[in-house]
Amino acid sequence: MSIHPDLSSAVGGTPLLRLRHASRLTGCDILAKAEFLNPGGSIKDRTALGLLLDAERSGELRRGGTIVEGTAGNTGIGLALIGASRGYQSVIFMPDTQSREKIDALRVAGAEVRLVPAVPFKDPRHYVHIARAHAGQLNATAAGSAWFANQFDNTANRDWHENTTGPEIWAQAGGKVDGFVCAAGTGGTLAGIGRALKARNPAVKIALSDPAGSALANYINRGELLAEGGSISEGIGSSRVTENFRDAPVDLAWSIPDQESVPLLHQLLHEEGWCVGGSSGVNLAGAIRLARELGPGHTIVTILADAGTRYQAKLFNPAFLRDKGIPVPEWLDQAFPG
Ligand code: PMP
Repeated sequence: MSIHPDLSSAVGGTPLLRLRHASRLTGCDILAKAEFLNPGGSIKDRTALGLLLDAERSGELRRGGTIVEGTAGNTGIGLALIGASRGYQSVIFMPDTQSREKIDALRVAGAEVRLVPAVPFKDPRHYVHIARAHAGQLNATAAGSAWFANQFDNTANRDWHENTTGPEIWAQAGGKVDGFVCAAGTGGTLAGIGRALKARNPAVKIALSDPAGSALANYINRGELLAEGGSISEGIGSSRVTENFRDAPVDLAWSIPDQESVPLLHQLLHEEGWCVGGSSGVNLAGAIRLARELGPGHTIVTILADAGTRYQAKLFNPAFLRDKGIPVPEWLDQAFPG
């Protein structure tokens, strides 16, 4: 018998999938961790749980308290759902550029959602600074009533991936992993899994697939935090080195344009039935690049971070895609004529 007593215990333990097209294309085994199957629909359920358990243990989050976070959406959804199941309220600050589907999912999950303008991190109105200040205000009024989750710089995020996601991948692949690649938002996934895999085999190559518009690929390749272009992907890319990203053991990095990543996720849906979001397309593009770098016969692992339905109005909208200069497959045009 295997029965999960609550939502927290149903986080993680996701299947490892073999991606047929990418494997055939490269002569490698391209494997992907199906993180969109987590209860809140994304890999960030793990982050939310890891941060929350750490805060309960340290006493920072007290019984009946309020969780406060700044997030592109998925971490907030994870925190709100896990929070609800453990008796906490959530207040989520989010840039107003994120998908309507994620905002609605947060509200449905019971979070108080506060949308703020998307401004650079150095601006004090940035959603992360506003979230931190809000938690500070709540604590000034009632000491210990609020906890700021701080996913970008709280390394309990990375540690949770190092202790759960990484070991799951190693065990599911039977220890045959030659490379791992994914994008970074907070960097928790890449750094945590990278550290776990390198600890088991230092020869495993760890790569960053960075969306256009992010500064991290240039930071790895040239030591310069320089961003060029832009991307429709959400939740990934960064203009700064977070505490979670700082010690990530990254061997290779590429900047991936939407024109490369989005067609891959369209194809994955149409030919293999997996409906995933924009960051997963960037990860898949990175997996194909890493496979080409290592050559045929290798095993490459990546992440399918969340579901495509969370971005329906963008990723599967021919007019939106055309406007962004992204190719529209014939079947998608036929599905939404006019
Ligand atoms: N993909 C999606 C869809 C996300 O929401 C996020 C996190 N914002 C990531 C990838 C990046 O994960 P991490 O924060 O662990 O770098």
